[in-house]
Amino acid sequence: MNIGQEVLQLLKEEITEVEYNRYIKQLVYDIKKSTSDLGVFYAPNALVCNWIKSKYREKISHLFEVKSGSKVTISITLKDHLNMKKTKKIIEQKVQHSLLNPSHTFDNFMVGGSNQFAYAAVKSVSEKAGEVYNPLFIYGGVGLGKTHLMQAAGNVFQNQGKNVIYTTVEQFLNDFIRHVRNKTMERFQEKYRKCDVLLIDDIQFLSNKEGIQEEFFHTFEALKGAGKQILLTADKHPKKIGGLEKRLQSRFEWGLVADIQPPELETKIAIIENKCELNKVKLSKDIVNYIATVIDSNVREIEGILSKLHAYSQLMHVDIDLAFTKNVLKDQLQENRANLTLDIITQSVAKDLNIKPSEIRSKGRSKNLVYARRIAIYICRELTTSTMPQLAQYFGMNDHTAISHTIKRINELIINDEDFKVKIEELTNKITSSS
Ligand code: ADP
Ligand code: MG
Repeated sequence: MNIGQEVLQLLKEEITEVEYNRYIKQLVYDIKKSTSDLGVFYAPNALVCNWIKSKYREKISHLFEVKSGSKVTISITLKDHLNMKKTKKIIEQKVQHSLLNPSHTFDNFMVGGSNQFAYAAVKSVSEKAGEVYNPLFIYGGVGLGKTHLMQAAGNVFQNQGKNVIYTTVEQFLNDFIRHVRNKTMERFQEKYRKCDVLLIDDIQFLSNKEGIQEEFFHTFEALKGAGKQILLTADKHPKKIGGLEKRLQSRFEWGLVADIQPPELETKIAIIENKCELNKVKLSKDIVNYIATVIDSNVREIEGILSKLHAYSQLMHVDIDLAFTKNVLKDQLQENRANLTLDIITQSVAKDLNIKPSEIRSKGRSKNLVYARRIAIYICRELTTSTMPQLAQYFGMNDHTAISHTIKRINELIINDEDFKVKIEELTNKITSSS
């Protein structure tokens, strides 16, 4: 038995027989592609693949660590994609740097008002690498398709045989540290400064990390100087990323900065239909519409919901109808809410408004503190089961009448102040979709 099979046997003991037979048993370990720090598995279809990734990947990785004593990254992909002869060679050449998801293509990206600007920008970069916008900087909230778009361009470049590096700031940093430790910095520089296209995801994590900013700055200069395309994503505009060197911030704005907004209802519907098609799930129009209205903005939730619907309907041998969907989603929405605590909400509000959580809970009366506190109290009231006295205690107020006054005031504001209302909605969406 090889290590991959051994790990799956260990996992078998930890889960139910039904789960094992339905999902894990279908995994195939690729001993040739796996290395001491990468375990490669194939799944037979997208649903099994997604389901295993979301539910078992960490467990599998942990069991590998138990068995081998070192950290192992787990890759689970569809068999078909890797078997395609045409791309096989290219993938083999490039796989060390670039883990692009082959289904992140432009064709699979649904375009609507909310994302058409970013889509057009990335598309034109993919057609003229290094020539139009360099760097191209895409920013927007969680799950709105930044990684998908960036990888769509990456896939185009990769199919042209270009040397593409796709990485996150975290991986870039880990790689950097490893090469510093092994005294192989020339190899690090060679790798990142000699590629054709550099895609770095979630660049906001550079914030306050001076060492890696310095290294990234030189990488940037080398690539830009050589006319190589750089594509970056972040959760906010470069100007809003704190703790970033001025020279980097200004370079991020040299090319084009494009935003992605939360999808409108029609775009959400199109995305759901597209995901159903990709995953071979059949849903009636009313179910699609229902899902589109209950999920907030985070598109990532859609895939989770589809896997869940599929898995439940298989396990329970029932068809997916509207009543069933509502039931499954009810659980999902409650699960989301159950994880939310006053601390999490307060931290999110504080982060968004650039103040400290402790200030929200202080007695400070400055205008922006009062504003932040109102928002935090309102969202805590909406999303948790805390009582007024509990809220009063948490937010350092005298008693529950103070809280009830505040909530009354907020309700007035929501009616009369459009900006305030929008801010509350935006933050509520953000908090519920990232929980
Ligand atoms: P982000 O990087 O912005 O957090 P992702 O790119 O990871 O978001 O997107 C989350 C999921 O939603 C992915 O599975 C992606 O394919 C899907 N997605 C997001 N936007 C779209 C879209 N417009 N069309 C199709 N799928 C989308
Ligand atoms: Mg992303």
